[in-house]
This record gives sequence, C-alpha cells and structure tokens, in this order.
Amino acid sequence: MTTVLLVVSEAQARRLLSQALRALGFKPVALPEEAWGRPPTDVFPDYEPDLVLADTTALEAPVISGLAEHCLHVPFLLFTEQADDPEVLKRAMRLGAIDVLEPPVQSSKLAEALRRALARKQAARQWAAQEAERDTLMLRSHIDELHTLLRVGRTLTAKLDLDETLAAVVNAAVEFTGAEESTLLLLDEETGELYLRASRNFEERAASTLRLKVQDTLAGEVVRTGKPVLLERDAPEKIKTAYLVHSLIYVPLYIHGRVIGVLGVDNRQRRGYFTQRHVERLTALAEYAAVALDNAQLFTAANAERRRLETVLNNIEDGIVVLNPNGEAIIINRVARQALDIDPHLSVLGRQYTEFCPDRDLEAGIREALDGHEFHTEITAPDGRVFSLQAVPIPKIGVAITLHDVTHFKELDRIKNEFVSAVSHDLRSPLTAILGYVELLERAGPLNEMQKEFVKRVRLSVENITALINDLLDLGRIEAGFDLEKEVVSIVSVLRYAVESGREQAEKKGVCFRSTVEEDLPMVFGNAVRLRQMLDNIIGNAVKYTPPGGCVTVTAEGRGQQVIIRVSDTGPGIPPSEQPYIFNKFFRGSNVASETSGTGLGLAIVKSIIESHHGRVWVESEVGKGTTFTVVLPGLEEDTAAAFGKP
Ligand code: ADP
Repeated sequence: MTTVLLVVSEAQARRLLSQALRALGFKPVALPEEAWGRPPTDVFPDYEPDLVLADTTALEAPVISGLAEHCLHVPFLLFTEQADDPEVLKRAMRLGAIDVLEPPVQSSKLAEALRRALARKQAARQWAAQEAERDTLMLRSHIDELHTLLRVGRTLTAKLDLDETLAAVVNAAVEFTGAEESTLLLLDEETGELYLRASRNFEERAASTLRLKVQDTLAGEVVRTGKPVLLERDAPEKIKTAYLVHSLIYVPLYIHGRVIGVLGVDNRQRRGYFTQRHVERLTALAEYAAVALDNAQLFTAANAERRRLETVLNNIEDGIVVLNPNGEAIIINRVARQALDIDPHLSVLGRQYTEFCPDRDLEAGIREALDGHEFHTEITAPDGRVFSLQAVPIPKIGVAITLHDVTHFKELDRIKNEFVSAVSHDLRSPLTAILGYVELLERAGPLNEMQKEFVKRVRLSVENITALINDLLDLGRIEAGFDLEKEVVSIVSVLRYAVESGREQAEKKGVCFRSTVEEDLPMVFGNAVRLRQMLDNIIGNAVKYTPPGGCVTVTAEGRGQQVIIRVSDTGPGIPPSEQPYIFNKFFRGSNVASETSGTGLGLAIVKSIIESHHGRVWVESEVGKGTTFTVVLPGLEEDTAAAFGKP
C-alpha cells in the first residue's frame, strides 16, 4: 500500500486528510511532532514514505527544509491555504515540492495530485535507473580502456630494445585509437627538425625521407606548445599537413619534462572520426611510450658503453677481472681468460671466482682482497707467459684484478741472474787465491807497519767482496728454487738459535736485546737453513743499525694457523720515500753511515726466502724512532704436521 506521510501541524486538517487518503486506498501516517525537528535522513528510515504531504509550517521544520539540503528526492506536496502567496510557493518549490493542494480537499483533486506525483516519482526513478545504467556502461568502457592501456603500457615498458619499443608504440597507437596509420617523430636536437623514427601503415617511401621543421608545421607546434592537436574535416577535401589527411591527432612525447618528439595518428581514407576521447587515449599512451623510450634509450646507451668498454678491455695487453663484493665476475677480458686458462667458450660472468681460479693459493689471495687486503702474486699461463697479478679491493665495487705480462722482464731477470751467478762463481776462485796470498805475505817475511795496514785493508776488501759474492750466489739459488728442500720445521727452534746469535751480537755492541717467543707456535713447512738465514738477516740488521744504548726486541706469536714474527729496534729508521725499495737488490738507505758494512742484498734474500715459503714481510719505520719488520709465515695444522712426521 502506498504510504503518505503527513507533516501537517493542524489536527483538524490532519484528520480530514487522513480520512480522504484512506478512502482513496492510501496509507496515511502522521509524523509525530517530536520528529519534525529531526533531519529527513533520520526520520525517513522509520516511516518510509512514498509521498509526503506537508503544510506551510512544515516548510520551516528541519524534516522538510532538509530535503533539498540532503538531496532527497522524496516527492512532497504542499498543503496550504496560501497557494496564492508567491513567497510560500517559491520556498516550497526550492525545497522540492512538486504540487500544491488547497483546502477544502476534494477527493478527486487529491487523487489526481497523488497520481501525478507518483507518476513523476516513477519517471524519476526510471530516469535514475537509466542514468545509472549509462554510468555503468561508461565506467565499464572506461575500465576496459584502462585495461588495454595498462596491458599496452606493460608490454611497452618491459621492452628494452629501442627499435622494438618504437614499433610497439606505433602499433599500440593504431590499436588504441582505431586510426588508419600512426607515426612517431623524434626531435633532432642538432638540426631542430622532427624526423620520422617509426611508423605503422605509413607509406614507406615517405617514411624514409620525412623531416619536418619545428617552425610552422603542425607537429612542430606540438613540440613548441607541448599541447596535443586534433584536426579533422568532415568534408571530401583533405587537410594539408606534411601529407594529406582527413583527420589527425598529434600528442607530445615528454621525457623529464621536455618534449622529445610527437606521436601521431591519422586517417587518410575515413572522414571526421577522432574525438577528444581519442586525444586523451593517445596522450595516455604517449606517457607510457615516453617512459618506454627513455628506458630503451638508456639501455641502448648503457649497452653501447658496455660494448665500448669490452672492446677496449679486450684489446689491451693486460688481463682484467672485476669481481663484485660477493666474488662473482662482472668483467673479464681476453688476456685474463688466457692467463687464468679459462675455456674461451665458457661464460664466467656472474660466476664465483672459485669456479675459474686455477689454484688454491690464488683463491686464498682473492679471498683476502675481498676482505679488503691488497694481494699480489705471479702466475704462469699455460703458454708459458708469466703474469704479475694484483688484486685490489675497491670499496662498494668489489675487487679489481689486473694481470700484467712480465714474461719479458722475467726472462731478462733470468739472464741477468745467470750472468751474475756465472761471474760470481768465476770470481770466487781468484778471490780465494788473493786471500791465500795475502795470508802468505805476512809469513813470507817481516812487513813494516804501513805494509801491514795495507795488507789488512786488502783482506777486508776481499772479505767484503766474498760476502757480496756469497750473497749473490745465495740469492740466485733461492730465486731459482735450488736447494730449497722443505720439511716440517719447528720454527720455535729456528727462532731460538737466531735469537741467541742476535743477543750475542747485541751484547758485543752494547745494545739491549729482548725476546718473547711463544712456545707452542705451529709447525712450518719449509727449509730450516733458509728460515734461519732470513731471521739472521733481519735481526742482524736491527743490531747493526741500532747504535749502542739502543734496544732490539724480537717477538713471535701464533695467530690461527699463522706465525707472526716481529723484529723492532730503536735505530735510525728508514725514510718513508725509501721504504718501498728496501727489499730491492743492492738498495742501501741514504741515512745509514757509509762505513756500516753491507751489500744491500740482505733484505732481497729475506724477501725471496719468505715468498718461497708463501709468507709475507713488511716494514713499518719512523726516522729517528726505529724500525719494525713483520714476517707472517703460514703454519701447518696439527694433524697435517703429525702426518708429515712432526719432528
Ligand atoms: P744492507 O746490507 O745494507 O744491510 P739490506 O738489504 O739488509 O742491506 O738492507 C737494505 C737497507 O735497508 C739498508 O741499507 C738500510 O738502509 C735499510 N735497513 C734495513 N734494516 C734496517 C734497520 N733495522 N734499521 C734501519 N734501516 C734498515
């Protein structure tokens, strides 16, 4: 039953209206007075009226005056005695009244008014439903469009090849607008012209030559203004742009806020076809296209850069490997592959260095470099070339390994060493003879004081030359790897003897001597004689260069599997500029007294011995304060030492 809500203040009128409504088959509901002050949104859920009949006083009550405010389209009829008062009528209309009833109410009039109101309500409902349906359809087509755009956008932005991307953009432009053909023009920064970079269904001959000035062309206008252009003529004759068309859209392609080109679609056959909607669609597509283009251009540039770098790297004479902080190869060149004996067909990029490292020592060295310590070694390639390998940690990048071909220098060194060895060897016999005859001179007859002094000097010089020659021969043998049989050596015993001999020398010279040697140092796999020679040289130097009253300290400790030996003194120190050279052959410091005996070969021998034991040596020194030499030797694990037959 149709409910009519009565918002009528006068009881008599209310009763009459109720009776009349009931007689006509409606259900009247009188709104209680306490509900008048509530807003209609509150009241209506309780009373659910189909129609409202309100009197003049009700126009002021919030339940009615709120109808328009809350956009509630409940049809209401005004019941008033002031139907000829324009103010009242105006107010009622403003609040949404659709009809006016005047007392006395005649049943037929009331019936007619109610019927009209209900019909209007019905019509309004239908209209609203149609509107809603249209909205839904529009929304659906909008969503479909967005889906297509998203799909096209995704496909576009996933592409990295520039040509593929461009082709995809022009295809999408045609698909997205239903145009006959599409063009993508890019701006040539140098000439200021637009040139056709990609097209779909565009006449091929024109495509290859199309270049447009930015000034006074339609596409140029888009570049200049940054705004889209839509042109169409619903007439048989065509529009003259760079070519003849019926209709056309150009939208700008923006990258980083700058117009870099124009995306266009046009129709040559069909007439008047594009709308503002098509412009919007093409603009949306152009946004994706610009991102895709930017990506592809960056990728192409990065690729070109990478290829250039690869060409350079593959053509230089040195080997180069770059590892990322995880130890995976990110760059490797031809020479490095040859030096490390990597199969030319094997792809090592992205692989762990352990997978292509030829030996364990190198692996350990690279590990060290990844841990932040520079590492240097020499490796021999299968073709006999010798490479000096340097692994340098680079913060945030990883490790750069360079391999420098030193075969030539090695060969020169070998020839030089052979020559020095031969000469030294040949010199030894005559020197022994000289020394022998010098001894005999004194026995052959009395010599005067001056002659004795001269003989002494001759002997000293010959002894110096002999020491030099012995050092040279030693160095030659160590470098060549001769007489370097290795066994498990107790470095503690070797240290003990070396320390004792050092202490004796120190005492003779008036230099204090301290030593702390841990008793349980790991065993070392090496040559005891050479290790002793190495320690004698370092400790001997410390005593030799420390003036009387100074102090020499020797310490040895085990750290993990390593033996760390330190020899410190309070001598003259070594100038920083000379420190890199002190392990070179024949190098002697500038700040040592010239009368201090020495050949400049001691530390070269030390270095060779330590390297042949896979150890490391370095110096820290301050002029005027003293010098510390640190030697690190790899020790053997307990069970390995036992397996070798620990002495
Ligand atoms: P040398 O025969 O001259 O001692 P070495 O090769 O043993 O040759 O040492 C090379 C140079 O290193 C020395 O000439 C000296 O200048 C410097 N040197 C070595 N040890 C020390 C030290 N403990 N204190 C100061 N200088 C040193």
